[in-house]
Amino acid sequence: MRKFLIAGNWKMFLDRESAIALAREIVDGMPKRPFIDVAIFPPAVFIEAVAKAVEGSTIAVGAQNLHYETEGAFTGEISSKMVLTSGGRVVIIGHSERRNIFGESDEFIQRKVKRALDDNLVPVLCIGEKLEQRKAGETESVLNRQLNGSLREIEITDPDKIVLAYEPVWAIGTGVVATPEQAQDAHSFVRDWIRSRYGDIADGLRILYGGSVKPDNAESLLVQPDVDGALIGGASLSSKGFCEIIEIAERLQTR
Ligand code: PEP
Repeated sequence: MRKFLIAGNWKMFLDRESAIALAREIVDGMPKRPFIDVAIFPPAVFIEAVAKAVEGSTIAVGAQNLHYETEGAFTGEISSKMVLTSGGRVVIIGHSERRNIFGESDEFIQRKVKRALDDNLVPVLCIGEKLEQRKAGETESVLNRQLNGSLREIEITDPDKIVLAYEPVWAIGTGVVATPEQAQDAHSFVRDWIRSRYGDIADGLRILYGGSVKPDNAESLLVQPDVDGALIGGASLSSKGFCEIIEIAERLQTR
């Protein structure tokens, strides 16, 4: 059975003090030896402080973005080494806010995925369709295009080395959540795609759902057979809400 991963994307919220406080509250509010995996993604400048705050716990800390070069004249960017030496172990790549606000292409994202894998950071690769694409019946063709482009030259030999996140753009930060059926259909499509490309790796690879996950809708999504966890924005900024979702996943994992 795949292990749930509950991940919190803090985006460009919080200051240093509140980021450290939130991290400590999560440590205190979740089981000491959980059966599931938990990851948090603070703003890059707080990775080190947050990694220290969760030291001794099982929480993985990560970055929200990465540059594909190892170093260079790329003002404002961060490298995998910077993330790793600050205590980061995972990295979100291709979030829809990066794709749609900052114009990141699948080709660009593919290079970042490769960099993360080469440097032993676990990429959480995000894909998902916009509302007009869903309405036009293009969800699967969009996912197919994003998967083809973002994983074009990527070898996957170990399902634990990469995580996928299906995040319908229309559900991110909107309060509108995909129905469990919509989520399951998309996740099953993604898993079939992974199987056709990488074979049985598909059985172990985790596909998270992201888009307005809250304590009151988490269970209906997490019980879907191909939903292996959640990437959570808004609700991850409250330790109470985030820990409630962790508790739900923990119960489902051990039932
Ligand atoms: C996200 O940022 O990836 C996300 C899913 O946000 P929210 O939970 O706020 O919709």
